[in-house]
Amino acid sequence: MDLSKLNPVQREAASVLEGPLLILAGAGSGKTRTLTYRIANLLDHGVPAYGILAMTFTNKAAREMRERVEKLVGPGTAEDMWIGTFHSVCVRILRRDIEKLGYQRSFTIYDDDDQLRVLKDQEKKLNVDEKFLPPKEVRREISNAKNRLLSADEWFAQSDKSRRSQLLHDVFLAYEQTLREYSALDFDDLLVKTLQLFMDNPPVLEYYQRKFRHVLVDEYQDTNYVQYEFVRLLTAVSNNLCVVGDDDQSIYGWRGADIRNILEFEKDFQNVRVVKLEQNYRSTANILDAANQVIAHNEGRKEKALWTEAPAGEKIQLYTAQDERDEAAWICQRARQLHGQGMSFGEMAVLYRSHPQSRVIEEMFVRSGLPYRVFGGTRFYDRREVKDALAYLRVIVNPADTVSLKRIINNPKRSIGDATVAQLEAEAASQQVPLFSVLPDPPLSLSARPRRCVGDFAELMFRLIAAQDNMPLAEFVQHVLSETGLDAQLDNEDAEAYTARRDNLLELVAAVREYETKSGDHTLSGYLENVSLITDLDRQEDAPQYVTLMTLHAAKGLEYDAVFISGMEENLFPSYRAVMEDDRMEEERRLAYVGITRARKLLFLSLARQRTIYNQINHNAPSIFLKEIPERLINDVQKTARQRFGEETPRRAPVRPPRPTDFGTPGMGLKRDPAQIPGVTKGFVASPARALSSSALLNMYRPGDRVMHRKFGEGTVERVWGKGGEARISISFTAYGVKEFSLSIAPIFKIDT
Ligand code: ATP
Ligand code: MG
Repeated sequence: MDLSKLNPVQREAASVLEGPLLILAGAGSGKTRTLTYRIANLLDHGVPAYGILAMTFTNKAAREMRERVEKLVGPGTAEDMWIGTFHSVCVRILRRDIEKLGYQRSFTIYDDDDQLRVLKDQEKKLNVDEKFLPPKEVRREISNAKNRLLSADEWFAQSDKSRRSQLLHDVFLAYEQTLREYSALDFDDLLVKTLQLFMDNPPVLEYYQRKFRHVLVDEYQDTNYVQYEFVRLLTAVSNNLCVVGDDDQSIYGWRGADIRNILEFEKDFQNVRVVKLEQNYRSTANILDAANQVIAHNEGRKEKALWTEAPAGEKIQLYTAQDERDEAAWICQRARQLHGQGMSFGEMAVLYRSHPQSRVIEEMFVRSGLPYRVFGGTRFYDRREVKDALAYLRVIVNPADTVSLKRIINNPKRSIGDATVAQLEAEAASQQVPLFSVLPDPPLSLSARPRRCVGDFAELMFRLIAAQDNMPLAEFVQHVLSETGLDAQLDNEDAEAYTARRDNLLELVAAVREYETKSGDHTLSGYLENVSLITDLDRQEDAPQYVTLMTLHAAKGLEYDAVFISGMEENLFPSYRAVMEDDRMEEERRLAYVGITRARKLLFLSLARQRTIYNQINHNAPSIFLKEIPERLINDVQKTARQRFGEETPRRAPVRPPRPTDFGTPGMGLKRDPAQIPGVTKGFVASPARALSSSALLNMYRPGDRVMHRKFGEGTVERVWGKGGEARISISFTAYGVKEFSLSIAPIFKIDT
């Protein structure tokens, strides 16, 4: 194995192959790179791929790591290696053996929303007032308990035994019982049940202990207690555990991550070898200096001395905006400037502390005509029509999944009202069977019409279940959409909403097809599992031509040439909660450190004197983190301008955002002044279809034209046809294949080639 592309310390870490190893190092010092080389080296030394288990923070990081390893050791070599998030690894283990815990292998994975539905139902049944015990709070408490490996009874034994705790205990028990009946697991269960499987069935544990001769974990500072236990059990025999992390980047304490896992690694495992990497390869000296200065203000940390050979680079630019719109306009202006100087949009990221801040920035990107992607926000799979379709698929795989069944039983409308469902549920409860089981033969207490409707629905579902094995997966999903009438029910909506929803359902079929091609798996259960395991942090697709907008949390582990951190204000970042508590303040400062160290070459910080957020106007002081960066590293944009023009007073006109009326109404796809966009044909009006007659639109696009779509990126027009509001266009996209849109509302514009 050629380790010459590593420095001596990294090389040491990649070549010590036995025993527990801790790589504790600052940001950008090559931890992830070293981990990748170490895996390649293990393979090179004859460790079989199936004997390696590597866990990373996102599915995307896992995919990338597999690719990088294969680049080092040859294609196909790493195929049998297990690599993924903790959750995906656990699901794989559970699919094999969960029957030993009394669940079916076809179990469904419930997301937050499914959990709430169960909790609401149970509270109703138990006559618990939702105001007294809000289901969201219960969900949080249950999750906390599970992450401490406590059952409902154990949790209660430790509680204050108040009236509230008693009720919570009842709901907790009912929740657990219900999930078991539905053959469903929540996200926390995935880990907890795996541990339970190991504890209750020593041969299963022994099998995995023997199988995985080497376990490696990236971002170890963000593991929680259950994950720690999982890793400890798996490596108890081999003792071959390599963990990589940075205590200064632990940012998930609020979600149960325990920073002690990394700080006490040397105590928890015997004969640990510790490797510290101190050279940063990512950032310029100025950026690194700023990061070091900020994090030095934290008390509970292991001292590290990160250095770099890189030149000082540019100073950090600071902009104090009048308000959040002015701030967003400044960011867009700078992004455009960088692009003009040759930096690709994909090399830029805009970071913020919380999601709601993204709205204004996103709007400004739309108006400025700059391509961007918001990472997070509403996921494709969270859209209503997509969830409806998935619910059908889930019931087909696991008919006991009653949450999904109740979602679809009268959707599309088929005259099965709430009262009917309640009677069916009562019947199921008295027979002690899942709701689905009573559908083929509905109770006689129902009147004729609902009985018939329920019977028809049961027949439909049985037909679908039977059809499943007779056609390729993507075709089957399309079949479900049309047989259930999910397609058709959209017909009644207005044209715009209809097209958007129909596009989403088409997109779902495309996603299934893509899954089949990429994974080589053709089972419906495999596809559904893949959907369930997509996390908030996996929503970014690789898109070289887009600026990425995301939260600071989501940026962990990533790097960009230019990084903008917006909203550098007290109460926003640090968040108002952190301002009150020391511990939270330290975690918040680590988040600032994560943000700053994402930047390779340029860092831009901004704040607003006045900010409207959550429908409130705020005047926040500049963030304490700004004060922690020495002035010598900062170029205060306004101050410099004042000095240059010899102005006394700090008043200046804010960067004026383009007015909505300049290019059309906001929120309607890409409206822009084409002259401002590099590469856009002059004189072209970008897709404000409503302002143009449709014949003008038809004339505008010709087969062969290159266009940019807001969601799918660049493509080539294949065909334009139809008249008026019915006019349609088909476009062939590089990454997504051919797609069809309604011409009048598609968010597209022409680009020069
Ligand atoms: P983070 O703490 O943000 O997760 P990290 O420690 O995992 O960072 P990497 O992402 O592995 O760091 O590396 C940061 C950058 O430095 C990458 O672009 C990587 O390719 C580069 N790099 C790391 N080590 C070396 C090296 N020895 N020579 C050249 N480049 C390196
Ligand atoms: Mg890393």
